[in-house]
Amino acid sequence: MKIVAVHTHLLEHRLDVAFESASMRFDRRVHLLVEVVCDDGTIGWGECLGPAGPNRAMVQAYCQWLIGMNPLETEKIWATLYNALRDQGQRGIAATALSGIDIALWDIKGKRYNVPVSTLLGGRFRDRVRAYATGSFKRDGVDRVEDNALETAGHVQAGFHAVKIKIGFDPAEDLRVIAAVRDAIGPQARLMIDANHGYDVIEAVRVGNAAADYGVDWFEEPVIPEQLDAYREVRARQPIPVAGGETWHTRWGFREPIQTRAIDIAQPDLCGVGGFTEAKRVCDLATLHGVRVVPHVWGTAVHIAAALQFMSAMVPDPVRNNPIEPIMEFDRTHNPFRQAVAMQPVEHDNGWVTVPDGPGLGIEINRDALREFAPKEMP
Ligand SMILES: [Mg+2]
Repeated sequence: MKIVAVHTHLLEHRLDVAFESASMRFDRRVHLLVEVVCDDGTIGWGECLGPAGPNRAMVQAYCQWLIGMNPLETEKIWATLYNALRDQGQRGIAATALSGIDIALWDIKGKRYNVPVSTLLGGRFRDRVRAYATGSFKRDGVDRVEDNALETAGHVQAGFHAVKIKIGFDPAEDLRVIAAVRDAIGPQARLMIDANHGYDVIEAVRVGNAAADYGVDWFEEPVIPEQLDAYREVRARQPIPVAGGETWHTRWGFREPIQTRAIDIAQPDLCGVGGFTEAKRVCDLATLHGVRVVPHVWGTAVHIAAALQFMSAMVPDPVRNNPIEPIMEFDRTHNPFRQAVAMQPVEHDNGWVTVPDGPGLGIEINRDALREFAPKEMP
């Protein structure tokens, strides 16, 4: 079996209402899918996290080594591509592009052996995963406090047991948002806060200490990801568990945060950390050091299906009669092609998402949607 072609599919939709996290403004949704074609006609699909144009260029650059290789040899391909760019790569686009390719290869392997990726990873511990709703960005032209309260109440009404909201804009306003959201979702729903590295240590410590009164499960990306000593300080000086990892790539990127306990919760992203091959290693590393894993998810049905396959195979840790179950990030912001790219949407039902059963990722791609959401002008 040989890889004979690799295609990239850039998807784009311009938003009517732009929204912002503390670190990024979204006036359009853009994602990149990777299609790997084999000589026997088998096709695998993957997705890359992050800027689609640079990811596309990087995937194309990897083709000089990838074409002609055996797609079933996922470890060998991962090492070949990583080593080819190690001296100037190691993380960033080199890792996110490699992630999209690796996911497509595991999709191919599952299709070749007629099993879901979860079986290749060692087997399912669960057939469905509980989801939490991610949203509550800052939207143009509305009162943020009211808007976030209304939105999160809707998520709880839709069956979600937990919501994650965006902070990191302004500590005083962020605390008003946290109070209003807790009031809107009631005392039972779980609440997480995500600063998208918008604070410095002084602000993060102040917000964490004040927000703890509202029952917050985790404080995500309080400070910039390069400053692991700042992470450790935030973790030491306020009571909310600290989460991070969506911008850390490969096992090397996670080694220090995990080993030095800069975080309580590691959030590797399948489409950024290095695909299934590397996410498994990061998960094992976290288990060795007693760090919980909650993967980051921000993408289309391809990304969601990959995360579900992975999370269904996560080993319960610690072992007990009613183990801690992994929860899955479920983006609720507007994205018309998120589910349209799959023939069967991977949607939630009352806050639970069923792991697809078919071979590989378990989804079929809707090529009409790829054409519909292809950019009208070349990026
Ligand atoms: Mg985040």
